[in-house]
Amino acid sequence: SGDKTHVLFNLQLGEKLYYEQQLIEDMRIAIEMAQFELYFQPQMSLSSEKIIGAEVLIRWQRNGQWISPSEFIPLAERAGLIDKLGDWILYTACQKAKNLVSLGWNDLVIAVNISPLQFGRKDFLSKVTKVLKDTGLKAKNLELEVTEGVIIYNENEAIETLAQLKKLGVHLAIDDFGTGYSSLSYLRKFNIDKLKIDQSFIQDIEHQAADQSIVRTIIELGRNLELKVIAEGVEGPEQLELLASMGCDEIQGFYFSHPLPEQDFIDFVKHQRSP
Ligand code: C2E
Ligand code: MG
Ligand code: MG
Ligand code: MG
Repeated sequence: SGDKTHVLFNLQLGEKLYYEQQLIEDMRIAIEMAQFELYFQPQMSLSSEKIIGAEVLIRWQRNGQWISPSEFIPLAERAGLIDKLGDWILYTACQKAKNLVSLGWNDLVIAVNISPLQFGRKDFLSKVTKVLKDTGLKAKNLELEVTEGVIIYNENEAIETLAQLKKLGVHLAIDDFGTGYSSLSYLRKFNIDKLKIDQSFIQDIEHQAADQSIVRTIIELGRNLELKVIAEGVEGPEQLELLASMGCDEIQGFYFSHPLPEQDFIDFVKHQRSP
């Protein structure tokens, strides 16, 4: 593997490569046949205690077994499949969001995860524009979640794309905030709406003073920069209490709801909204 280093091929390595290759082949077929599903995880405003929208999360059942997106999305990126898969996710999410809006939910915001590779394509802006036009979804009903990784590819282009998306009227959120390697200076240059505090800071927040300090600081940073702040991975009432006392705007997590299939999400919303 270059520069006087070598790797011994062993059976385990072979097995892993074989497994991944099989997964990639199955993914190729699953993309062709649209065998993925989109789940919705509700997001709640802490001040109004109302559901403001949901994050769309992809699900894949392969031979009767669920494969985590944390496993197959990076593989799709490596295998050159993320563009096609990402197109399907964006289009289908917008189509489903449009249905929800048509049920009378005008201020709904549906958040879609965008891979840095997908975001970095020259035609990304025109794709978003076209999807909104084709599905009839208003830009204000769509939020795009990007990680700080989008900056690594090409900072100037990323700033330009984000500015154009903002002009279109879509909301922009920084996902997994606090775990990236980029400098905070991009917050000045990037026209974003929301910070999503990474769940690793929330996981044990009720016991970790350091996590409390970090989260309090992120919330204050958001307030000073006029950005909304959402905490992800909220699992318990103590965490919720803490976040509320710190002035966090929104929460998402198992405590409120797991990611749900579309119909379950609709039922959940109806139940929450009726007195
Ligand atoms: P993410 O965007 O940061 O999504 C949040 C993850 O945390 C989701 O995992 C969600 O199910 C999980 N989660 C939500 N609430 C809780 C909680 O209270 N506790 C815990 N422990 N976990 C919680 P999921 O669905 O397995 O997705 C993992 C990652 O895969 C996502 O992280 C995202 O990076 C990627 N991903 C998922 N769907 C998509 C997609 O449609 N497109 C792209 N490009 N990436 C996706
Ligand atoms: Mg996300
Ligand atoms: Mg996240
Ligand atoms: Mg994550």
